[in-house]
Amino acid sequence: MSMWQTLKQEEKTQAEQLAGLLAEADAVVVGIGAGMSAADGFTYIGPRFEAAFPDFIAKYGFLDMLQASLFDFESTEEYWAFQSRFVALNYLDQPVGASYIHLREILETKPYHIITTNADNAFWVADYDRNKVFHIQGEYGLWQCSRHCHDQTYRDDDLIRRMIAEQVNMKIPYDLIPRCPVCDAPFEINKRNAEKGMVESPDFFAQKARYDVFLESHQTGKVLYLEIGIGFTTPQFIKTPFQTRVQQNPQALYVCLNQKHYRLPLPIRERSLTLAEDSAQLLKETHRIYFKGDTPCT
Ligand SMILES: [Zn+2]
Repeated sequence: MSMWQTLKQEEKTQAEQLAGLLAEADAVVVGIGAGMSAADGFTYIGPRFEAAFPDFIAKYGFLDMLQASLFDFESTEEYWAFQSRFVALNYLDQPVGASYIHLREILETKPYHIITTNADNAFWVADYDRNKVFHIQGEYGLWQCSRHCHDQTYRDDDLIRRMIAEQVNMKIPYDLIPRCPVCDAPFEINKRNAEKGMVESPDFFAQKARYDVFLESHQTGKVLYLEIGIGFTTPQFIKTPFQTRVQQNPQALYVCLNQKHYRLPLPIRERSLTLAEDSAQLLKETHRIYFKGDTPCT
């Protein structure tokens, strides 16, 4: 039986429910996937992709930008011609997403921590505390040795800009290829790949350690596990661990913002809630209700 008062009150809108649950929570663990960025307009298909990559789409028939970013390009010069434009679009020049602002302002009233499978710049451009976000799949703005010969990541935004400015026929000049200072192999984007994995740097492990400390210090009490826009491609990173932790803490609650309904494990079904409204609208409305102060139990 749930001890969350909000769940006992009937005839509430989804935003009223979410605002009430957030107000009741002792702590919030937030998992964020591609659906949240997509709801804010950072989509990987359609006009946003077609406007930035007409030449690559004509050559390879790509249908979406994520698929394209994982493609095995015919040369390193071509790889970086694509990736430099991808990094500018999804990292360096990414605008602020309204949902990210709404969520941050709510979370700042509570103990919270975030884990995300997204590699875009949405958190940093929305001014999140860098000590409270764990990018478990890497970040588009960072590079790693393509041989993974050592555990360090690198970043050079100016060189990305030069790659964009100086590329011709979908190839950057050979001498702009960024190279590993240890083994001289070309760099690649620091993004986890199903076969190769990714370079996990000391900073990655520091992020992981902060997240683990937060989880350890909130093993009991009314912990809200809030999952936003997470599909089922890599459930091992967020979805499955969240469900396991909710099962382990009888006071915890699992809330999933997703337009698709996924099967929920039986032991936590009573302490789970799926909110299927568009997440951008839902967070906007939740923010409005939350700060009006008419939520219960504040
Ligand atoms: Zn190397």
